[in-house]
Formats: sequence, C-alpha cells, structure tokens
Amino acid sequence: MAGGDLKLARPYATLAGTLDKALLEGLTKMGFEYMTPVQQKVLTELPTLSSDCLVQAKTGTGKTAAFLLPTIQNLLQGNIPPRGKVGILVLCPTRELALQIAKECDQITACLPRKMECHTAFGGTARASNLKKFLGGSPTILVATPGRLDDILGEKEVRDRFDSIKTVVLDEADRMLDQGFAPQINSILKRIPPKSDGWQGMCFSATLPDRVNDVVKCVLFPGYTSLSTIDPNEAPTVANVPQFSITVPSIKQTFAALYVLIQSEHKQNPKDFKAVVFGTTANGVGLLYDLFQNLLPQFKTFELHSRLSQTSRTKTTNQFKDAASGILFASDVVGRGMDFPNVGLVIQLGLPSSTEQYIHRVGRTARAGKDGRAVMVLFENEAFFVNVNKTLPIKPYPAEIISDLTQYNPTIEQGFMGVDEEAKAKAYQAFLGYNKTYLKKLRLDAKGLVQLANQYAEAMGCPEPPLIEKRTVGKMGLKGVPGLRIGSRREEAS
Ligand code: ADP
Ligand code: MG
Repeated sequence: MAGGDLKLARPYATLAGTLDKALLEGLTKMGFEYMTPVQQKVLTELPTLSSDCLVQAKTGTGKTAAFLLPTIQNLLQGNIPPRGKVGILVLCPTRELALQIAKECDQITACLPRKMECHTAFGGTARASNLKKFLGGSPTILVATPGRLDDILGEKEVRDRFDSIKTVVLDEADRMLDQGFAPQINSILKRIPPKSDGWQGMCFSATLPDRVNDVVKCVLFPGYTSLSTIDPNEAPTVANVPQFSITVPSIKQTFAALYVLIQSEHKQNPKDFKAVVFGTTANGVGLLYDLFQNLLPQFKTFELHSRLSQTSRTKTTNQFKDAASGILFASDVVGRGMDFPNVGLVIQLGLPSSTEQYIHRVGRTARAGKDGRAVMVLFENEAFFVNVNKTLPIKPYPAEIISDLTQYNPTIEQGFMGVDEEAKAKAYQAFLGYNKTYLKKLRLDAKGLVQLANQYAEAMGCPEPPLIEKRTVGKMGLKGVPGLRIGSRREEAS
C-alpha cells in the first residue's frame, strides 16, 4: 500500500457514493484497495471534484490516481465532452512520464462500459502520425509534454478539440518550469479556452517552490484549495529512506567509490537488488553505463538519457519497470515521477541540479510503501551540497569504503580500456558544460574547472584531454582558458 499506515487508511469501497462503480472496479483490478493519504485528501476534502487545487505530497504516494480519479469522475457526472473533444489535459515534463500516466489512466477506466480514450503527445515521435491518431480518435483525455502540445496547437483543427475542456492538470509543475517550459505552457494556455470559461486547474508535485506561483496563478483561480500531506517543518523526502553521502578527495576516485559502493550495497541486500544511479549529464551517464557494463558484468545494466532514441528509451523504461533486479544508469529524464517498482537503492553521482531534484531522485525508491536507501557520491568541491541542505536527513555513509580507493585504480583503468574514446570525449565535454553552471558553488574559476575536467579525462584513461571544437569552447564561455585542447575530433579520428 502506498505511503503508509494501513490502520488509518480508508478503503476505496467507502467511496461507493462518490466514485462510479466501474472506476472502483478498475481500482480493485489494479490492487488499489485503500486510498493513499493524498488520494483520500483530494477525494474527500476538495469542495467539489471540479475545484481548483494545489496539491503537495511526497514522492511515490499515489499522486497520479489522486488527479485522475476526481477529474474522470467529474466527466462521468454529465460532463463528458462531445466525441473527439478533449475533456482532461494533463501536462507533464517528460515523455516517459506521459506514457506512465496514460497507462495508469487506461487501467482506471478499463471497466467503464464506454471506452474512454487516453492519448499522449510528446516530442521524439513522428509529428504527422501522432497528429493523425489524435485527430482521428476520440481523445477524451490527453497527456502531453508542453513542447509537442504547443507545437500541434498551431493547427486550428487541434485547437478546436479543446473547446470543451473541463480540467487542466500540471504534474511536476516546478520541474516543467526548471526545464524552461514556461513559455510553452503560457502559449498553450493562450490557445485553449480562457480560464474564465470555468475549467478546473490542478497542480501536483512533491516539491512546490515559490517560483511555481507564476504558473500556478495561470491555472488556478484565487481561493483555490491547497492540500498537503507534508508537514511544513520536515523535508519532503520519504521519511523511511535512510540517506547518506560519501565524499571522495578527488574527482578521479568517484568511479572507484561507485564501484565499491554498488558491491557493498549489493552484499547487504543481495536479494532482488534493483538500483538507479543518477549522473549529471546524458553523455556522463552514457559513460558510466559503458564503464560499469565492463566492471560489473554480474549485474544486468540499463541506461536511460536524452541521447538515446525514443524507441530505445521506451523499451528500456518498460524493461526496467518489469525487471526484478538490475542497475539503471539514468539522467534526469527519469528523475521525476517515474515509477520503477521495487527500486531499493538510489545513488546520485555528482551535484543534483537543485535541492528539489535531489528529493525527486531519492523518490525513485521507497515507492508504494516499500523500503529504500539513497547515497550520494561527491568529490570535495561538491560536498557543500550536504552542508547547505541541512533540512535533508543526509548522514555520512556508515561503512568505511573510501579509506583505500586507490587499490581499485587498476580495475577502473582496465574497465575504461573497453570504453570508446568518443564516449569519453563526449562525457568530458558534457562535464565541462554542466559544471560551468556551478563554478561559484564549486569554488572554482574557469581555469580550475578545466583542470578538474582534465583530471576527469585522466581518470577515464585519456592520454591527453579530448579535443573540443573551437565553436563549442566559445559557446561554453571558455575561450582562452588554459588547459583545453582545441580542434576537431572528426579530423583526428579519420
Ligand atoms: P507519485 O506521483 O506520488 O510519485 P505514483 O502515482 O507514481 O506516485 O504512485 C506510486 C506507486 O504507488 C505506483 O506504483 C502506484 O501504482 C502505486 N499506488 C498508487 N496508489 C495506490 C493505492 N491506493 N494502493 C496501492 N498502490 C498504489
Ligand atoms: Mg507523480
């Protein structure tokens, strides 16, 4: 049962008067017998099922059903839009999350006598065929990422489909802002009927920093209901996740630390060992995957980041959802909202982009009331993260695993020998680009950053720092910084 205490939980059966019989039947089939706290709050404390609301609840506590159930029920109460029109629009930050939400929606509506279609719209898929399916079907519910929806709303035919809209949900609203989706969201809101037409607005997240207020104001009328299952004095990480950090003296040792950490964690919990390792950039994650495939052949490994095709992202997402064990190397494309059942360990290597992002990544474990652990691996300059986030319950990692990491240098070197030079060069460049944004916090200047990146390259076994195109150096604002090797890798390779 998700998020908590069985004794306090109310069974869904007690909502027989509120929720349609067919929805309750769907929930039973899904194994949702009791409401999670956030589901109970939304379903019993909202003034009406169509009231505006801002809802905050911890990761993995069932927020998806908490917005799907009231909004679908509202449609069933005489608000079903005409065929072909969208009644519920859910906006979320990633393609993976859109697919996951749509799947849960299909399960919830599975027992309705009349099929309620849930469509998705996100980038990375063929626009034309996506559009054809949308226009040819009856998309009563649409789950979309802001970019693709904004794009297809350019077509009048698509805009017309929204004239009976009843609800707009923003899932992970703060993440969408951080990803720079605010212009698209505003543009979407300008092209669907105005808020004054009376559609319901809902915003859901585990973290709701003040900066979301601007977007919140666009979808919620003043006087909206605020619901939270989080005590304002506690950190919004799941309380039953022990959280640790390991600080290594140099960037070079982060690989060895990760190598030892994974094995030590596996030894403690050998049964169904399922872990997610977050890295900071897509190419950095690709590199970790390449390396650890060589270093830890005994584990089934997976990779998920934005440099992979949408087809392979979807395939890997499903494989890792279904896997009983294994290690997923991931970037923040799955940092939020993704539900990979039974992940028992989350490792973060390097700085998370924000405190909220840290919290959401930790939230990939201990979902639906299960246990989980979280460990971050930082090198000296990154260790400030723990000190400036005193509300997070992060403790030093208990086992003495960093005392002699140098003994693993030959193993790591060996592992890197099997990694493609181009993968290393891409990771090197991504490392520069990512950490450039955090210079002040890392207490580095541009020269120090390049030195650090060169140590990273050395750790990867590069005889010299990889070449970087002049144009890229300019874009990163690192022109003239000593230590960089400028040139084209393509020429060198040929
Ligand atoms: P959140 O959005 O809060 O992070 P999700 O909606 O993704 O959480 O749900 C987390 C997990 O809990 C999912 O696997 C979901 O199927 C499960 N879950 C949600 N509600 C219930 C419930 N009432 N009973 C049992 N499992 C549930
Ligand atoms: Mg969610």
